[in-house]
Amino acid sequence: MTLPLHLYLLRSLLRTIRNIDGRLSTLFGKLFPTEYKIRGTCLQRGVCCQNIAIQLSPGFWRRPWIRRWSQRYYEFVYNFTFKHEEPELKVILFRCNYLTENGKCGIYSSRPQICRNYPTPRHFGRPAFLPGCGYHAVKTGDPS
Ligand code: SF4
Repeated sequence: MTLPLHLYLLRSLLRTIRNIDGRLSTLFGKLFPTEYKIRGTCLQRGVCCQNIAIQLSPGFWRRPWIRRWSQRYYEFVYNFTFKHEEPELKVILFRCNYLTENGKCGIYSSRPQICRNYPTPRHFGRPAFLPGCGYHAVKTGDPS
């Protein structure tokens, strides 16, 4: 579906702001590395693009209107489709509409920073990966 010009411009602006935030996160991750390193490679199966998990803080999760707005934000800015919520993980799950039938990204060269950053080691706890993903996490000092 093609967006009207004003919505397209708004989406581009919000995406640019979010991309700057993503680049700052990358820089932050380089300056303050976590105890985990990411190993492996993308197997181009599209598992992550079919199961995009956006985790909210407990304070945000308790407020249904913030969950609703977060859902709409990701649908509008990233062209994701809402799948369902995982309350025990405080996660909203999406699927990306740019994912093609062969499991590849339809906008690979201009994909958002959020996709370029994936997977990012977390600062608290061992990073988790979806079944079928080619990445895994190793603790610093452990053998790969
Ligand atoms: S934009 Fe591309 S890489 Fe990002 S979630 Fe969508 S299909 Fe995956």
